[in-house]
Amino acid sequence: MRVAVLSDIHANLPALDAVLEALAPYDAVWQLGDIVGYGPQPDEVVARLREVGASGVRGNHDAAAVGQLATEAFNEDARTAVEWTAARIQRETAEWLRSLPERTTSEVFTLVHGSPRDPIWEYLLSAAVARANLGAFQTTHCLVGHTHVPLAFREEDDDIETLAPSHGSRLELDARRVLLNPGSVGQPRDGDPRACGMLLDTESGLVEWRRVAYPFEQVQALMVAAGLPKRLSERLSLGW
Ligand code: ZN
Repeated sequence: MRVAVLSDIHANLPALDAVLEALAPYDAVWQLGDIVGYGPQPDEVVARLREVGASGVRGNHDAAAVGQLATEAFNEDARTAVEWTAARIQRETAEWLRSLPERTTSEVFTLVHGSPRDPIWEYLLSAAVARANLGAFQTTHCLVGHTHVPLAFREEDDDIETLAPSHGSRLELDARRVLLNPGSVGQPRDGDPRACGMLLDTESGLVEWRRVAYPFEQVQALMVAAGLPKRLSERLSLGW
């Protein structure tokens, strides 16, 4: 089965459509949370995910937008965007977001937003944190998002190897356990404004990261029109 793995879409419909097109053909879509928040099209993004039959988990922004998580820990811009989202989304969108689990498993993969030991908040950015999480999932591999940075951590004997994938990077899965992050669809934060996606072939075990340009000016114009914080729209052109 060819799986399109997506994370941190953040209500950015042009980026989502560009990534889906870049990863096609696929048999399934798995998403790792933060579907909404920051961006201007939460209803449209959820509708598209339902259309392609996406399964997956909720992130901290999704939980906050439907009242499942307090917003005190969010920075000011993030809180403003969450409140804007909560006030605007249709009931159907909110119900769908509310139905997402914090963690799920599919084949040999555990899916979470942050990390397996703290699915909502922990940022999995270092080998030390990756190692500390190996005992927190029972499947062979784990898929995470939340950091908005494409990354892979692979268990190597007593060590953890860190890989920083770019467009076209590939990894062949074997018995060694890995934690994989596809990067962010809707708000990349590694200095490259192109949207991120990952293709996972569950039969061959081949993983491939892809980057794709999308018309972020359209998203920025919608964000300005919606009165969302300027810093949030500006960062889309920087990939930061
Ligand atoms: Zn996010």
